[in-house]
Amino acid sequence: MSINRVLNHSTAVLPIIERLKKEVNIDRRYSIMEFCGGHTHSFVRSGLIDLLPANISLVHGPGCPVCVLPSHPVENSIDLLQKHSDVILYTYGDMMRVPTDDGDSLLHARSRGAQVRSLYSPLEAVDYAALHPEVKVVFLAIGFETTIPPTLVALQRAIDLQIGNFFVYCNHLDTAMALRGILERECYNDIEIDGFIGPGHVSLITGAKFFEPFALKYRKPIVISGFTPYDLALSLLMLVQQINHDEARVDVEYKRAVDGAGNVKAQTLMDRFLTRRDSFTWRGLGDMKHSAFKLKDEYAVYDAEVVFSLVNSKNIKSSKGCLCSQVLAGKSKPTSCSLFAGECTPENPQGVCMVSSEGACSAYYLAGRHLRLGEL
Ligand code: SF4
Repeated sequence: MSINRVLNHSTAVLPIIERLKKEVNIDRRYSIMEFCGGHTHSFVRSGLIDLLPANISLVHGPGCPVCVLPSHPVENSIDLLQKHSDVILYTYGDMMRVPTDDGDSLLHARSRGAQVRSLYSPLEAVDYAALHPEVKVVFLAIGFETTIPPTLVALQRAIDLQIGNFFVYCNHLDTAMALRGILERECYNDIEIDGFIGPGHVSLITGAKFFEPFALKYRKPIVISGFTPYDLALSLLMLVQQINHDEARVDVEYKRAVDGAGNVKAQTLMDRFLTRRDSFTWRGLGDMKHSAFKLKDEYAVYDAEVVFSLVNSKNIKSSKGCLCSQVLAGKSKPTSCSLFAGECTPENPQGVCMVSSEGACSAYYLAGRHLRLGEL
């Protein structure tokens, strides 16, 4: 069944798997982290994860921005909506269903009458603000480098059009600092990672060179991968080859999209508008220095955090029985959670890892792994 699922994607995958089996040294284990949630989904849903040599272990990384975000951005947003009836909050669809530590959500707040709307592009929020000067439009912005440029393009438009009722609640996270945190063993303390499948979408923005200091300093190979089973199988092969030869460099498998320099226009926008926070607390990874962005002081009039006095919290709790923090720290698999596929499903998520389309629990559930728990 797994082979059929992979074959549905490409018959070219199986020869790569055969090469991988020949390349691995049977006397050692290879612990490989796929940083990105999109990679986790492809591994699991295609069935590729079941075809790998037994001595390759995948550690699902923290590359799902909805999952690693603490609760306070949603809690603050709900509080803001309760206190200010003239505020309309826009955010991405996944964020609407994220449960807070107390089981509330933006979706619940909307059912209580709060003005919460989902969007595909932050420009929708700017356009609404332009047409409705009587309300205050707040965009709850989240995500890694991939979603930062759309936020900043929206902010740029608000500035250009002199729209004074549009505000950004900036909760963008910094992939580089998360990677550094993992490599410095601030997190994943008891898991030795031998190499990384680097994030394909983030690298479109940052460029591959961005990761080179990390590979060199920490002596860990990184292969930036595309998202098909073929891409991932080839990336694993490239990583195993580096590990076997004790090499540690950044290779790009996803050459059709990623180059060394990345998106320079996006990087310029980030330099103009953003600065790093002193620290930020990630779910599962804990507090990491400089690991999130905020707007620079000169844009304070557009900063919801400043205008509405929103306070960040370092406390992260999970709903009872939820193992999201352990899943995000690579210490538990989704199937270890007693709520998985019972009380917790994509329709009724009890934790963030089941909410997001990039979450590991969602990947395992949608791949039907709860139907074959006896095999796991
Ligand atoms: Fe949390 Fe649900 Fe995953 Fe369990 S299955 S860890 S409750 S998201």
